[in-house]
Formats: sequence, C-alpha cells, structure tokens
Amino acid sequence: MRDLTHCVNNPPVSSEGFASLSVPTHRASTIVFPDAKSYLERKYRGPDGFTYGLHGTPTTRALEARLTALEGGVRTALLPSGQAAIAVTLLTLLNAGDTVLIPDSAYPPVKGFAANYLAPRGIHHRVYDQNIGAGIADLIDDTVKLVWVESPGSTTMEVQDIPAIAAAAHAHGALVGCDNTWATPLNFKPLKHGVDFSIEAITKYISGHSDLLMGSISVNTVEHHRRLKDTMRMLGIGVSPDDCFLVLRGLETMGVRVRHMAQHALAFAQALVNSPAAERVLHPALPSCPGHALWQRDFTGATGVFSVVLRRGYEAGVADALSQMNVFQIGASWGGTHSLIVPMEIARDRALSTWDEATTILRISVGLEDPDDLREDLEALFRNIERAHHATA
Ligand SMILES: *Cc1c(COP(=O)(O)O)cnc(C)c1O
Repeated sequence: MRDLTHCVNNPPVSSEGFASLSVPTHRASTIVFPDAKSYLERKYRGPDGFTYGLHGTPTTRALEARLTALEGGVRTALLPSGQAAIAVTLLTLLNAGDTVLIPDSAYPPVKGFAANYLAPRGIHHRVYDQNIGAGIADLIDDTVKLVWVESPGSTTMEVQDIPAIAAAAHAHGALVGCDNTWATPLNFKPLKHGVDFSIEAITKYISGHSDLLMGSISVNTVEHHRRLKDTMRMLGIGVSPDDCFLVLRGLETMGVRVRHMAQHALAFAQALVNSPAAERVLHPALPSCPGHALWQRDFTGATGVFSVVLRRGYEAGVADALSQMNVFQIGASWGGTHSLIVPMEIARDRALSTWDEATTILRISVGLEDPDDLREDLEALFRNIERAHHATA
C-alpha cells in the first residue's frame, strides 16, 4: 500500500492489558459491516444494535446503561437537551385529537411547546392544579393519552402525589411522563412510582458542571424505547459521544455533589425563614411546602435548589442587591458546581394559580464553594434588600 492509503488506514493495534477505569469515547457517523449481506440486513439489528453514529455508539450506550440502572428501568434514550427529551416524549405519544394534561407548576417551556407546537397540529393540552392528586381522574376523558407530572414544581416546589396520579391515569388508559430533574434518580425513582417515562435534564445535576446540554428518557418497556427511538430517527437527533464522556465523568461524583449541596441548601433555607424580607421559603423539606408529606413519603432526599418568595414591598433593592453578590452568580440553569441565583417572575407562566404579578421569587442553586462564603453572601443579600426597603419605606 502507498502513502495516501497509509494516511487513512488503521493498522491493528493491540489493546491487550489495557484495562482503564474510564469509558472510551467512540465517535462515528459510519459503522462498517463485515459484508454486503449484513449491511442490507442492518435494520434487523434493532434499536440495541449499531447501524449509524446518530443512533448510538458504545459510549452513548454506556451512559444509557448507567442511567437505566440508576432509574431502575429497562432502557434509556439520550436527547440533545432536557427540553428535547420532553418534546420527543410528547411527540411520540400524542397524535391529532389527543390531549395531554400538564401541571400548572411545570417547567414553562412544556406549556409553550404544547401551546405553540402541538396545538397547531391538532394535539390538545389542559393545565391542571399540581396539587390535585387522585382528583386527576375527573379530568381524564377518552382523548387524554398522557399525564405530565413534575415534582417538585418548577420554582414553586409543590410536591405532587405521583403514585395517585399514575394510578388514575392508568385506570383510564393514559400514560404518565415525569420531569425528575430536580430530584435526580438519587432522590426519586419515577419508574418505581408508576411513571412510564422518566425524563431528566442531564444538563443539571447529572452532568453537573454547567458545560453541556443533554436530556434522557428512561422507560420500563422495550416497546416504549423502540417508539422513542423511531421518533428520534425520523427527527434525525442524537447526542455527541464527547458530551456522553463528560456526563459519564460528571455522574461519578453526583452522589457526593448532591448530598453536599442538599445539606447546605437546606441549612440556608431554614435560616432564611427568619428573614424579614422573606414571605415564604419554598423547599420540599420544610413543612410549609405544599406536598411536604408526599416528599417525606416518596423521596429519599433533596438537592440544592430552592426558592424564596419576597415579602411585598421588598422588591425595590433586589436588582442592586443581586448585582452586589460576591460568590453567587446570576444565570439560568442550575445543578452545577457554581452557585447561582435568579429573580423569577412566575405569574405570567401560570394559568391557574393565584401568584400575584408583582411577586418576586429568588431561585437559589447552591454549588460547591465554601459554605461559609455562600452563607455570608446570602446574609449580605438579604441585609441589602432589607436596607433598601427601609430606605424607601
Ligand atoms: C432545565 C430544565 C429542563 C430543560 O433542560 P435543558 O437541558 O436546559 O433543555 C427541563 N426541566 C426542568 C425541570 C429543568 O430545570
């Protein structure tokens, strides 16, 4: 063979004795086949076989397998973002004329997808009170094919009665999808509580370092997995093996990260209950949180995200006080090593609840900086908010 061929060929290299603890990054668009017949028969390899890079490489399968074990399911599909995982679940399960029920406290882009993408295509949605529990049965008619749950609720942290909702949905022939991003599969296993599709925004705690986007859907039947993979193939979406490598790496420390963050977040939440500027602290481990008893019953722990509802009249100095923070940074997304805080205006995202337009909620994600630095930063924030309030009052 000549030089140009040497340039592209891979001579055999021994990997004997190379036993690494790290998962290799297998990149590919093309998968080559041993002969023409196996190429022509490639579709019979099924969703677990290798046919094309988009549909998976050993690296993506390694991450799927780890997540499947953690979720207690039978298969996991990986998507380019948490929102893509939600959208693909809805697109797979709903046809024109069908209805999906969405809790009022859901991650707002779920309602946005239903209203702006599904509705024009003849797929209906209805928003329900997240605290409805078994009462959901009254909302399930023949058109309802999917009940969505997210617990605790986005920003407002209400814990849903997922086993009761799942039982009612299944009794009426509907399936259940759960956004489990806040809890992570360490603290709640949706598939063990009656859910059919467990969705994680891997972007948050599972990857854990604010440097990539990914989502997952774990299921407990191979048939549901096949249907999801069919949708993904038709839409032409998959994930990068390099991103999977980073997730495999980040996931190894999720247990200690989440435990540490949860411990300090709860301590901060408990301390903030006494702040004059705090109307309410929203954290599932506080008895004042709607669904606190359900959280105690169904969850094995918390993570590091919680919210503070500011008392009316304390809004004036919030923007300045947030800008003066030294350790917490202002930014969307959460679950990484850097502590984040954002002001949230939730009223316009809610269809049913009585949240006032003027209510300001601070959403706090506790990271891995020294807890004393974080505590001092939060104390200074609330001191500055209170000082601005007294200056204007
Ligand atoms: C961030 C988030 C998502 C979306 O994840 P992306 O990867 O950012 O698309 C979905 N659900 C919840 C609860 C989230 O916090």
